[in-house]
Amino acid sequence: TRSIRPLVAGNWKMNGLKADLAIATEVARGYDAALKAAVDLAICPPATLLFPASAALIGSRIATGGQDCSVQPSGAFTGEVSAAMLADAGAAFCIVGHSERRTLHGEGNATVRAKAEAARKALLVPIICVGETREEREAGKALAVVRKQLKGSVPEGLDAASLVIAYEPVWAIGTGLTPTADDVAEMHASIRWDLARIVGKAAAAGVRLLYGGSVKPSNAAELMNVANVDGALVGGASLKAEEFLAIARAC
Ligand code: PEP
Repeated sequence: TRSIRPLVAGNWKMNGLKADLAIATEVARGYDAALKAAVDLAICPPATLLFPASAALIGSRIATGGQDCSVQPSGAFTGEVSAAMLADAGAAFCIVGHSERRTLHGEGNATVRAKAEAARKALLVPIICVGETREEREAGKALAVVRKQLKGSVPEGLDAASLVIAYEPVWAIGTGLTPTADDVAEMHASIRWDLARIVGKAAAAGVRLLYGGSVKPSNAAELMNVANVDGALVGGASLKAEEFLAIARAC
């Protein structure tokens, strides 16, 4: 039995047109009483679909989230989307520090932390992503790399309900590769330990630690049963309602 209610969050990335809102409504149809009793769900569509997705999910108890937010509250920042705008469009969560943002957009820990703080100011729960590259894992540095990311990107003083951490090994994202259950267990235990130093022991004990990286129905049960894994951040499989629901059932 779990002491922390798990969360399965879908990251649609840069996928989804209006017609794809059908995925969200299909997930809502499949989120039955048994699933509702066991697991929280969130869908993070592209920003353009956040408002209609949130509207389509009213009454479903499925939350929505942004995939990124500006560090700025408002102003002359062409192309940026603020955390308050995401909240206004119905979001409850915001992913920050996804490896694609860290790598493709050069976001360092300080930026990720500023985004997490901006999200909190708008009353969004940040889903802060951390994870090592293949080279870092092979060099035996995975735990140290993630420790440094946590120290640099998690704001101090958040309570358990105001923070979600997603451990996403970069080499497992979109590749079909996953770490062993033992490696996930070791990392998640280490993350909870490190978090205690940032947000305090009591808060750290209740923060949801998601695993992300090639989660699919066939491996979800094994990954979700690892100690200190409190749900999943799902990329590719979140674009198929049946797969996303199957992963939720595995919790
Ligand atoms: C992600 O990018 O957050 C992710 C976990 O992707 P995938 O499930 O496709 O590996």
